[in-house]
Amino acid sequence: MADSYKYKGLRQKLVDHLREKGIQQEAVLSAINAIPRHLFIDNAFEKFAYLDKPFPIGSGQTISQPYTVAFQTQLLNIKRGDKVLEIGTGSGYQACVLLEMGAKVFTIERHKPLYLEVRNFLPTLGYSPKFFHGDGYEGLPSFAPFDKILVTAGAPFVPEALKEQLKIGGQLVIPVGDSINQVMTSIIRLEASKFSVTEHGDFMFVPLLDKRSWD
Ligand code: SAH
Repeated sequence: MADSYKYKGLRQKLVDHLREKGIQQEAVLSAINAIPRHLFIDNAFEKFAYLDKPFPIGSGQTISQPYTVAFQTQLLNIKRGDKVLEIGTGSGYQACVLLEMGAKVFTIERHKPLYLEVRNFLPTLGYSPKFFHGDGYEGLPSFAPFDKILVTAGAPFVPEALKEQLKIGGQLVIPVGDSINQVMTSIIRLEASKFSVTEHGDFMFVPLLDKRSWD
């Protein structure tokens, strides 16, 4: 399924909607305008791809709602050349948004079939982040430090390993809470062991799973 004028038009409408909801960074909006979200979604839902809703992507996982993707990305203030670690590759859509914005992207997924599928699919659209199959709680110590770390699953707490993998001046954005509700949390590493924390409203993500509960 290729892109089409119809989908381009719907995408522009989605971008207008995100702008009305308060997304102001043009680089975020133009990345969303550039990426064919309908190609990331189960065929049955394809025609709804440009509604501001999350959707199933198979393996019991979801592609985040566009507003959530835009909100997290805006909070991260992505600059060209930023080295970004994403936890929870999922459909790969968020990784593409970061790549469109000129970031260098490392992305981790715990679910092996999803990891394999997305690692094959994204390059067919021209997007090539560095893919890893592994545990997001551990981050990627051998590739650290990162300018930005983005967690796209709901975490019960902030993993110390992720804070330790930030550059000084680097930023971690992570939804923290229980399985029903998480608070979008931004953590900036001011000095080696000094962090500033701000909260940015309530969201709902699929859980960041502890390795002991993996299937
Ligand atoms: N960023 C994705 C949405 C991710 S949904 C997108 O743009 O589509 C959250 C993802 O996190 C799921 O794919 C889930 O399998 C993955 N996940 C959950 N726990 C994890 C863990 N401990 N380590 C890595 N990935 C994990």
